[in-house]
Amino acid sequence: MSRHFDAIIIGTGQAGPSLAARFAAAGTTVAIIERHKFGGTCVNTGCIPTKTLVASAYAAHVARRGAEYGFAVNGDVRVDMKRVKARKDEVSGRSNRGVEDWLRGLKNCMVIQGHARFQSPRTVVVNDEVLQAEKLFINVGGRAFVPAMPGIQDVPFLTNSSMMDVDFLPEHLVIVGGSYIGLEFGQMYRRFGSEVTILEMGPRLIGREDEDVSEAVRQILGAEGIQIRLNAKCISLAKRHSRIAVGIGCDEGPPEVLGTHVLLAVGRTPNTHDLCLDRAGVATDERGYIIVDDQLQTNVPGIWALGDCNGRGAFTHTSYNDYEIVADNLLNGDHRRLSDRIQTYALFTDPPLGRCGMTDAEIRKSGRAALAAKHPMSRVSRAVEKGETQGFIKVAVDADTKQILGAAILGTGGDEVVHVLLDLMYAKAPYTVVQRAMHIHPTVTEFLPTVLSKLEPFA
Ligand SMILES: Cc1cc2nc3c(=O)[nH]c(=O)nc-3n(C[C@H](O)[C@H](O)[C@H](O)COP(=O)(O)OP(=O)(O)OC[C@H]3O[C@@H](n4cnc5c(N)ncnc54)[C@H](O)[C@@H]3O)c2cc1C
Repeated sequence: MSRHFDAIIIGTGQAGPSLAARFAAAGTTVAIIERHKFGGTCVNTGCIPTKTLVASAYAAHVARRGAEYGFAVNGDVRVDMKRVKARKDEVSGRSNRGVEDWLRGLKNCMVIQGHARFQSPRTVVVNDEVLQAEKLFINVGGRAFVPAMPGIQDVPFLTNSSMMDVDFLPEHLVIVGGSYIGLEFGQMYRRFGSEVTILEMGPRLIGREDEDVSEAVRQILGAEGIQIRLNAKCISLAKRHSRIAVGIGCDEGPPEVLGTHVLLAVGRTPNTHDLCLDRAGVATDERGYIIVDDQLQTNVPGIWALGDCNGRGAFTHTSYNDYEIVADNLLNGDHRRLSDRIQTYALFTDPPLGRCGMTDAEIRKSGRAALAAKHPMSRVSRAVEKGETQGFIKVAVDADTKQILGAAILGTGGDEVVHVLLDLMYAKAPYTVVQRAMHIHPTVTEFLPTVLSKLEPFA
């Protein structure tokens, strides 16, 4: 015997719950299955807790700079990690409970806790019960990738998930991986008071970004006392008394770093290995990501994959956008497509990096005629007033259409300001629109027309 629903959703990440609510509101019956914590990565071990921790780290950083702003702090600024964690748990926990309460309160929606596995293209098994539906949606997300590096079995290591339980100050945190997650943790723990070393295999940090962005971020982190080792190849781990010795085959510098704790931040891997996808015939790529078409449908009609598990985005906003595309297409008769969305994301270091569209390297590769401009944050009055002048704004536009091709705003407010350019891209409007707009003074955004007035042929 199986229980029948109109739709089954596996996972309560950033797409599943909203999709369940839309189906339920449309009067269709839906079952949503979660094996662990409601809200998934973003809510429990990703965006929400890390940005809450980043806020604590920022507050400590500003307190240490008190003299620059004209105030004194009595004694050293010391971070109480138990209270930092408690604050993080409160913010993250509220969100986690919010998702669960919301789902449980939905009419037409059954919430099931347990691990779902496919039995056939139309059925899944959870807690020994068979559920059946005409439409199935996979929103199972991903987890930290643990590489098979020598010694990995012999030493304790942390991932973004186990970092959530840390309520003490690691004396020396060695972070393997100099990309978005590693850099956010690195700066926050340095500001909490740890010694921090970041090991990056490649020749620069955040290798997907332009070289000037990588270099500026390296300088910002280096100035805070974070040790950065690039070209760190052949990483190995070994126990050395009470410490962990991390061996590095760097071109320069000592061949070993002795840390008290090691955080692995070398990428993510999809949670698709334990779903029995083969029983449904759902195809994955060589890295386990579910292959989807432009409307998120898998190779099996009636099965969609949304969020990180489809490899078409690795952000909360891409997962949520997947939900919007699928829901609008299925419930509103729309024809939305993945390929209509424009790449955008932020690195939430301080200052943050806001990004949209193509990088310089991508523009060069595309062969388009382009114009570009760059403006230092040290010449943005709001940044000067705030005492946060690190970074720059850079924008590239198509020389013929005058449309924005890409932007990187590394600087105070960069994660917000970038949306002006992103929306202009969605509107397919020429950059001259922004030049004629009147902006609020003093803001970072008011400098966009100034930056755009400096456009020159792309080098
Ligand atoms: C440290 C860190 C910081 C991040 N910061 C940001 C940020 O600032 N901004 C941003 O946009 N993104 C950020 N991300 C990425 C973001 O968290 C994810 O892209 C986002 O959570 C989307 O996830 P999802 O919807 O694909 O699924 P997830 O949120 O991963 O949820 C999947 C859910 O499915 C459940 N599940 C899995 N398998 C099964 C099964 N077989 N049966 C039942 N349930 C199952 C899991 O338990 C989980 O709850 C961060 C990620 C990390 C790790």
